[in-house]
Amino acid sequence: MAERTPSPTIEDYLGIIFTLERDGEEVIGARLSELLEVSAPTVTVTLRRMVRDGWITMTPGKKIQLTPGGVEAAKAVIRRHMLTEWMLAKILNLPWSKVHEEAHKIEHSISSEVELSLIDKLDDPAQCPHGNPMPGQESISSNWKPLDECIAGDKIIIERIHEFLEEDPVLMDFLESNQILPGKQAQISEILPFNKTITLKNDAGVVTLGLDIAKSIYIEKQQ
Ligand SMILES: [Zn+2]
Ligand SMILES: [Zn+2]
Repeated sequence: MAERTPSPTIEDYLGIIFTLERDGEEVIGARLSELLEVSAPTVTVTLRRMVRDGWITMTPGKKIQLTPGGVEAAKAVIRRHMLTEWMLAKILNLPWSKVHEEAHKIEHSISSEVELSLIDKLDDPAQCPHGNPMPGQESISSNWKPLDECIAGDKIIIERIHEFLEEDPVLMDFLESNQILPGKQAQISEILPFNKTITLKNDAGVVTLGLDIAKSIYIEKQQ
């Protein structure tokens, strides 16, 4: 049986495992260690605790899967994270590039009562300020394409900056100052596969991104 409230550390693990499962990525300790920036032995110890407490199961091949209780707890922490991001952006007017980092510090102490008030106050958003779908709203992003699949000349609307990019404050600041934001238009000017870069034009001017970043930015093509 899962304990009733996971600790902040366990909540961080649950959120990342949920996101990897959602994306169809294989969930293994090495990937968690990389994303959480903690050592492999620490991840192993925490995962054992999570199995004991009923949040996850692990196959003999060390593949990790959320239990139904784990899924519910993960959805709750992601919802609270995204609602907190909106609260910081809309009510406190914090910069778009800063709300993820700040929300991460607050999300673990949001009660279900405050969560319900936020849903009401913020008109029940389907995405976070970075365009990532709320748990249960994944279908809104199903037609969006990764930016690295565009070709020169494509006119696009930026829709979503993947959760894992939100973790990099320097990148987020760069994206914000260069208008790579959900709802903003741009046109692809050049893709250089040998250089691994994509260059686009928008209201901010000319912006060049690495293809490894571009594959985690989702867009919609304009006619
Ligand atoms: Zn975030
Ligand atoms: Zn976000």
